[in-house]
Amino acid sequence: MQALELGATIGILGDGQLGRMLSQAASRLGFKVVIFGPDAESPAAQVSLTSKVAAYTDEIVLARLAERCDVITFEFENVPAASLDFLSSLGATVAPSSRALRMTQDRVLEKRFARDHGIETVDFRAVDSLDDLKAAVADLGLPSLLKTRREGYDGKGQVWIKSVGDLEAAFDTLHGRPAILEAKANFAREISVVAARNWDGAVSTFPIGENHHVGGILSTTLAPAQIGNDSVGQAHVIARKVLEGLDYVGVLAVELFVLNDGRLLLNEIAPRVHNSGHWTQDGCLCDQFEQHIRAVAGWPLGDTTARCTVEMTNLLGADILDWERLSAEARARLYVYGKDFSPKDGPRPGRKMGHINRIKT
Ligand code: AMP
Repeated sequence: MQALELGATIGILGDGQLGRMLSQAASRLGFKVVIFGPDAESPAAQVSLTSKVAAYTDEIVLARLAERCDVITFEFENVPAASLDFLSSLGATVAPSSRALRMTQDRVLEKRFARDHGIETVDFRAVDSLDDLKAAVADLGLPSLLKTRREGYDGKGQVWIKSVGDLEAAFDTLHGRPAILEAKANFAREISVVAARNWDGAVSTFPIGENHHVGGILSTTLAPAQIGNDSVGQAHVIARKVLEGLDYVGVLAVELFVLNDGRLLLNEIAPRVHNSGHWTQDGCLCDQFEQHIRAVAGWPLGDTTARCTVEMTNLLGADILDWERLSAEARARLYVYGKDFSPKDGPRPGRKMGHINRIKT
């Protein structure tokens, strides 16, 4: 693709904090941004040229977006892949592709893709019925983790099965949605690799982040992770295989489990910028948001060398109410997403309201 000219317009499907930070990176490089999402005052709409408030399937509004934008991307993997196909059918340039989105929206397709490309995953079985679940538990053993195939995030749509007596109750939580049963990974640590590929096929990986989750939600990322060179090398090879296998354009994140013997298992691919890459805003010359904009805009990829060690901490729910103290911290940068909350009840527990990057070295 020809590099986008200064002043070109980038469309972003999705209007949350990732769209907000993508939009800020795009405007710094001289692009205009149109946000497409359900909320007129969303975190992303607040900082963008304009926003289109509509359902992701609204073809009239999608057609206006296609006409207006030089390239269209997304910040949210639950955008319907058919909407990307529709935009492409109108001649819009879309990145990442609908194929990449389809493959990574579904935990079963994603793991099959990984295995087909020589990347190890936990053992898993697709589950569409209670009988499937019983057979899967017999194969994989207990404890094991039942997840919806699609639309789960931050530990939502997941239930641990610890004994055969839990089977039916666990199955009922699916409400008929297709699911996957995963064997328990006995991991020593969780890491992620954020990486990018551009239209020319150039690949660039960021240093690895080590992630700590609390209650299924990312709490902190420490990066560059203090792990051996062998794991770093393996993680970068996996990221490259994923990017090339999907013929991907843009930034993605690969979440990995590190086992005690040093082997890496792929947990999940996020076809977008990722919470575990927020540390790059202060840790790297070019952060993940700028990198994504560069990739989809046909610009050269930026320098991802780490400048320092950063600990990123998510500000979840009421944590954000502490903003005054956080804003006074030395060697730290505060990022606030501009999400409304009721003064009486405060932000919903667990809701991602902002993050803070603390410089460690
Ligand atoms: P996910 O939404 O799949 O990223 O899962 C959220 C978190 O649950 C992960 O970061 C892990 O801490 C944990 N988890 C997910 N899948 C497994 C598994 N198969 N075995 C052990 N822990 C898991």
